Amino acid sequence: MDKLRRIFGLPLLYWGAIVLYTAFISLFFVLRWTGEQGVSVWFPLAAAAVALGTGWLCKRRSLPVLPQQNILWGLTLLCILYVFCCNIGAFVVPSQMHISVFMTMGTMLVLWGLLRYGALLFWAPFLLLQFAQFAAYEQYATRLNSLVIAEAMEASDAEFAAYMSTGNVVLLLLVLVAIAVMLFLQVWLLKKVRSRMTSLAAGGLFFFLAFAGAWLVPQNEMYEDAFWPTYTAYHLEESVREAFYHNQQTVRIAEELHSPAENASSISTLNGTEGVVLVLHIGESVRADRMSINGYERDTTPWLRSRTDLINFPRCISAAHDTCQAQIALLTNARRDIHTADASMKPTTGSVLDLFRANGFRVYAFFGRRVGQQLKYDRVVRLLTRCAEERFNAPESPWTSIPQIQAVLQSNPQTGNLVLFVNNEGSHTPFYHFDEATAPFKPYVREFENPGDHAQEVNNAYDNTIHYTDEFIRRVVSLLQGRPFVYVYVSDHGEYLGHNGMWGRGALGEKEGLYHETTGCCVGMFVLASPEFRALHPHFESALQRMSKNAALQVGHEHLFHSLLGLFGIQSPYYDSQLDLSSEGVLPYTGPAPAADAE
Ligand SMILES: [Zn+2]
Repeated sequence: MDKLRRIFGLPLLYWGAIVLYTAFISLFFVLRWTGEQGVSVWFPLAAAAVALGTGWLCKRRSLPVLPQQNILWGLTLLCILYVFCCNIGAFVVPSQMHISVFMTMGTMLVLWGLLRYGALLFWAPFLLLQFAQFAAYEQYATRLNSLVIAEAMEASDAEFAAYMSTGNVVLLLLVLVAIAVMLFLQVWLLKKVRSRMTSLAAGGLFFFLAFAGAWLVPQNEMYEDAFWPTYTAYHLEESVREAFYHNQQTVRIAEELHSPAENASSISTLNGTEGVVLVLHIGESVRADRMSINGYERDTTPWLRSRTDLINFPRCISAAHDTCQAQIALLTNARRDIHTADASMKPTTGSVLDLFRANGFRVYAFFGRRVGQQLKYDRVVRLLTRCAEERFNAPESPWTSIPQIQAVLQSNPQTGNLVLFVNNEGSHTPFYHFDEATAPFKPYVREFENPGDHAQEVNNAYDNTIHYTDEFIRRVVSLLQGRPFVYVYVSDHGEYLGHNGMWGRGALGEKEGLYHETTGCCVGMFVLASPEFRALHPHFESALQRMSKNAALQVGHEHLFHSLLGLFGIQSPYYDSQLDLSSEGVLPYTGPAPAADAE
């Protein structure tokens, strides 16, 4: 006993308590023994080897093998605090919390043994990220996966500002103070450990306890979150890498696409002097089921609903939950999400706008306030609209585009053909883009802080943005009165509005394929053509009639490229009549889509 006291620094109360607690909680799993353990047996063996090796070195140098028990009690309480504050998993499976606590003890002691104060370079940013993740999970039911990080990387100043409400800023300051206190306590306790070797030996022992505890858990009941912080740090690093890679990949794909205008193309319907205007409006975050033209009980689209000549596509499936990928699927001949699609569904050519430009159209692009930044979103949409003569931004509000569009129409004589590409904020989070004075759905909350706490108000704000877009379209169309025009609208992706507790689009990346299992992927799409356009050429009238007939089909982003070419009678080797909604032989979209009765 005396020898044990000398080695382990006495009495054995601490170790007795640890072993008893672990044995008690593990019994629960051992009783349901399945023969397939949660982790490979090599993990506890490797940890044991580290503990024994460093322990032996401690003994040879007459150093204590383990820290004194008052230090250990202090560290254990601190680690329990860490796990409670930062690890969502601890709340999900309390029966595996001891694994997290031992992992945290092991990580803390080993990093101290190896790096001393340098360990703070790991702990400080890591704790901050974990607190942020915890807050994100509480508010939006999402975690810091690669999609959330990629989205954050392309967020604009305005979007960041929307999350930086007074409440969130106060929360951030409190978190910084909490982290400072936690790190101070950590260093204060670890400084009392007599040597770095002792710290390593104890760290090895706690890793052994963590892995041994995990080994007793059957594989199907093991949660990877229990390995916090080690597993989480690894996963976070992987997510950041993937987010960067994903962003670079997306931009590179858009950059490397050759223009379809490099191949010969021709137009059979127009000679370039008719004054035709094609408005191609790529919407933002508009769910089909929130438009009254699709049966939504609130009248969010009163003007569109009043149009008897509207060709409405009530079931359009978007290709991806990411704006950039959706833009690529819409404007090129890509058929699916570019990152997961097989080779036959990937784009083989660039923007359809290039073919309009090559066939006598002048192209102008009208953006919201976002496309002033050098971010991924910006770069991709700029690449796909690079044939535009001029680009406009609407920094004040989308209304700024109306006089801009008017000026372009006036400066181009009525004999020239035009493409007006429109892509503004629409219903993107935060739901800012509508006028307070005319907002029909009240009360509303535009901020996106804790949306679940005022779900109805946030939903009201969202519905107001759709109502506003309806008015935006009305104003653009009124500028085109008397001209032969076609207005083609399709949204890039949908939005979660509290469905299954999820908000925004961050949560969509949580589970592979979840996006296409919910109606969040069904987006608004319609076509509107003026009588002057219909009368211009017999092809236009018959193509629009065929389009009306096909409007009941399930369609997808993949149809846009070919339908624009088909409608205008543009011949190109990239055109595929089976994907042209104005053709007799069009095939419906058969890619991933939710069941008809999905939420
Ligand atoms: Zn978007």
